[in-house]
Amino acid sequence: MGHVFPRHTKTNLPTAVSGEGCYIIDQNGKHYFDGSGGAAVSCLGHSDQTVQEAIKKQTDQLAFAHSGFFTTEPAEKLADLLVANAPKGIDRVYYVSGGSEAVEAALKLARQYHLERGDKDRSHVIARWQSYHGNTIGALSAGGNKWRREPFMPMLVPMSHIDPCYPYRDQQEGESDEAYGVRAANRLEEEILKIGPEKVSAFICEPVVGATMGAVAAAPGYLKRIREICNQYGVLLILDEVMCGMGRTGTLFACEHDGVTPDILCIAKGLGAGYQPIGAMLCSRKIYNAIENGSGFFQHGHTYQGHPTACAAGYAVISTMLERNLLDNVNKRSEQLMQALTDAFGQHPFVGDIRGRGLFIAIELVKDRETKTPFDPKLAVHAKIKKTAFENGLICYPMPGTIDGKNGDHVLLAPPFIIQDEHIAEIVEKLSASFSSVFDTLGS
Ligand code: PMP
Repeated sequence: MGHVFPRHTKTNLPTAVSGEGCYIIDQNGKHYFDGSGGAAVSCLGHSDQTVQEAIKKQTDQLAFAHSGFFTTEPAEKLADLLVANAPKGIDRVYYVSGGSEAVEAALKLARQYHLERGDKDRSHVIARWQSYHGNTIGALSAGGNKWRREPFMPMLVPMSHIDPCYPYRDQQEGESDEAYGVRAANRLEEEILKIGPEKVSAFICEPVVGATMGAVAAAPGYLKRIREICNQYGVLLILDEVMCGMGRTGTLFACEHDGVTPDILCIAKGLGAGYQPIGAMLCSRKIYNAIENGSGFFQHGHTYQGHPTACAAGYAVISTMLERNLLDNVNKRSEQLMQALTDAFGQHPFVGDIRGRGLFIAIELVKDRETKTPFDPKLAVHAKIKKTAFENGLICYPMPGTIDGKNGDHVLLAPPFIIQDEHIAEIVEKLSASFSSVFDTLGS
């Protein structure tokens, strides 16, 4: 087929032709159950008529108007809906086209906030190891995945990284969840003091880590302590909810679970649910006012920001999610899926941990359950599981362990919010069959 530059040049991909509920169908009519919503994107499945009709209506009326000249009704309606449902204090919305763009905008907004206030030395950003914030240079600099970073090192923007909150491997014997949360968060204070508080602009993290670690939620009290530290040293808190936001973890915004309000919040993926490419950066009145009372102009912008069709889709996605009470289904099915996975794999010799929140659940694979030793990266266990599951008609999202052995391969599941009993059974059955084939061949 054609001339599309694929992610891996040596693969022959099937052609996706249509979508029906939780399934994608290829040119041969083969059905794939979308157990990861692509990469935590397709939260409403693939044939939601409300969203499809909203897109059609908007393109019939006006597909695009440049945001430098106009605002539009869909852009305003979506912003009102997001703010009405956001943690208290968040009240401005800046649109972009995806997750990396949201993170880039957030890093620049943090810098400009300090400049507007005359705090010219605050440019340093602190992030965490084993994190992912996007593939553009700024977002990649914030990301703490060494494999992704290393080839581009001289081009990356200097930032520093602290160890993440990772109970499975980092919590000590006998240490309570809360004590661990505070201990892990205090690493931020140490780093701020090391850099010099007057130089630090922002700290960025994912409330529930997605792609790099696999559905690792912050320990209780972790984000509260992070918020306190940021307040104490005048450092802005940026939460990256590109993957875990928009209902994925059972609340519309993931940080609601922790009762913490960031200064800047990044969303994407589930906002457009795959029907349109859209992301957003939300910020507090404090940040917005500094710009409004200063230069009056956020020095940033992209041609497609606030795209009316994308905003109409985003509005349809979020209002559908809320009107149909889909977050109730996320929470109900989360418990069922977690139970079914625990029943199937809880004693599996190569399963180290099953964890997650809402319909954002991962299985970390290890060579040895007792020592938690990851598989040798050369075995590419994640890639074998991805391939085998795909052949079995299951789309899941396996990722490699880190190159420094800090975590093992994992399989991330992020199915659509519309799943029912039979879908949970299908996920577990296909994953079981895939694990068996892969681990049998590994054994030999
Ligand atoms: N942040 C997080 C937490 C993500 O998971 C991702 C994508 N996996 C991004 C940012 C980048 O988003 P995009 O691929 O839409 O640029």
